[in-house]
Amino acid sequence: MVKQCTLLLKLSFITGLLISQALSAKTLLSEQFFQGALIVGKTSPDNKVTLNGKSIKVSKNGDYALGFSRDEKNNSELIILSPNGAAEKRILKPLKREYNIQRVEGIAKSIMNPNKKANIRVGEDNKKIKAARKVDSNLTAFAKGFVAPIEGIITGVYGSQRYYNGVPKTPHYGLDYAGKTGDPVKSPADGTILMFVPDMFYSGGTMIIDHGHGVSSTFLHLSDSYVSVGDKVSKGQLVAAVGASGRATGPHLDWRINWFNMRLDPELVLKLKPLK
Ligand SMILES: [Zn+2]
Repeated sequence: MVKQCTLLLKLSFITGLLISQALSAKTLLSEQFFQGALIVGKTSPDNKVTLNGKSIKVSKNGDYALGFSRDEKNNSELIILSPNGAAEKRILKPLKREYNIQRVEGIAKSIMNPNKKANIRVGEDNKKIKAARKVDSNLTAFAKGFVAPIEGIITGVYGSQRYYNGVPKTPHYGLDYAGKTGDPVKSPADGTILMFVPDMFYSGGTMIIDHGHGVSSTFLHLSDSYVSVGDKVSKGQLVAAVGASGRATGPHLDWRINWFNMRLDPELVLKLKPLK
């Protein structure tokens, strides 16, 4: 029975591929379909794009963005509809990844459960972060490639997760770079500064930069910001300084990539090549 199901799945996947091959001349997609990947597409600007029935913004140049979450298991259905009614369907199958899991036993209850006052502050912080990550601007910087925001040794990766006393904690979604307080932090792509808060409860100095179509960068634990909300910044421009603010064990940069409220892997984003 299990074997049959697998075979059926494979067959439907192959059918999906055949359909897309027949019509795919105009549609380009970046090729890393890993869990946690930002996927960039290019099509004719007057086409309409939907992902699992939800419409996705297409830029004047035909660029669009979508993502796979850390644990995405289901195939996604991408439909590209041209003005003359022709539709192209692509089945995108997420490639499964193994994440680093650590089990830590004997943690005191007080650390496991932060107090009420802290919870209220965390709630306020989260509201600001949520509002920034909802922005769906017309920028297309996400389609032009990214650079690392700092030259430093990578000390933490996307997707890793700790279990305290058997209880899973939220996975780590950032890419951590070692650094000293004051080290320059550059914008990984062109963008607009959406948010800077110097003292969030967990993440300390926190900046969010919009790269367009819901794709944004978040920097955590900053000691300083050199830009203001609303500023346009370019790829490689100095925007902030490394710090150890908030709940950090020492100075480092934690860089995150978001597609709206979905968290994506910055290491995969650095490998993206602009589509031609
Ligand atoms: Zn981190």
